[in-house]
Amino acid sequence: MSVLIFRINSRGDADSAWFMAHDEIEVLGPTCKCGHRESKRRFPASLEYQGGTVGDFAGCGCIIAQCSVAQTLVDRFPEISSIPSPIDTGDDFYEKRVRRLKYKGPPLCELWFRTRVPFNPEVSTLKAYPQCPHCSHIAYVPDKFALPRRQELIGDRWEWVPPKPRVRGEGVIVPRGALNGDTFFFFGHSGFAMCLSKGREFIEDQNWSCISFTEVGEVI
Ligand SMILES: [Zn+2]
Repeated sequence: MSVLIFRINSRGDADSAWFMAHDEIEVLGPTCKCGHRESKRRFPASLEYQGGTVGDFAGCGCIIAQCSVAQTLVDRFPEISSIPSPIDTGDDFYEKRVRRLKYKGPPLCELWFRTRVPFNPEVSTLKAYPQCPHCSHIAYVPDKFALPRRQELIGDRWEWVPPKPRVRGEGVIVPRGALNGDTFFFFGHSGFAMCLSKGREFIEDQNWSCISFTEVGEVI
């Protein structure tokens, strides 16, 4: 079964909405020299409307969907939680002296998945940043398969090239046991939102807008 990364491509569709998310971060330890610190995001983020028309999903770094869409997903996939997102209505104009756009669209919810699969460089072909000598933190990033297109140094200039098809056994490899039967999950330290092929099929059957999938790996 394939593993897919999905993108809420807010700006991919013409005039699609964009929000700024104001996360509340709970700091769990001191900040290391490398900039890393243990922290946890509080759920949900409050949203600041930046303009555009809301599709079924909306992007801002977290997973935002119209609440009706979120409910359909929660009903079908028990590993998904959803909670209404507070939206800055723009009423604090005088207080903050910043003009905010008024949001008049449908109610929005943030989605969250209960399962987090840790990075597993022993089976996945992931690029790793060097380990920090102070806090031993290692950052992993999904490799080139995760990108819809990428820049490559060709001759003496960077050029956009289309994605390279994934070769079996490469990319994000998820052991079946790590999923507890779930279809949607967060992967790794940075919490990339991913799903299995049946999640993509369900979403594509609904014809929802502003979401797209790229195959990045497989379940073993
Ligand atoms: Zn460090």
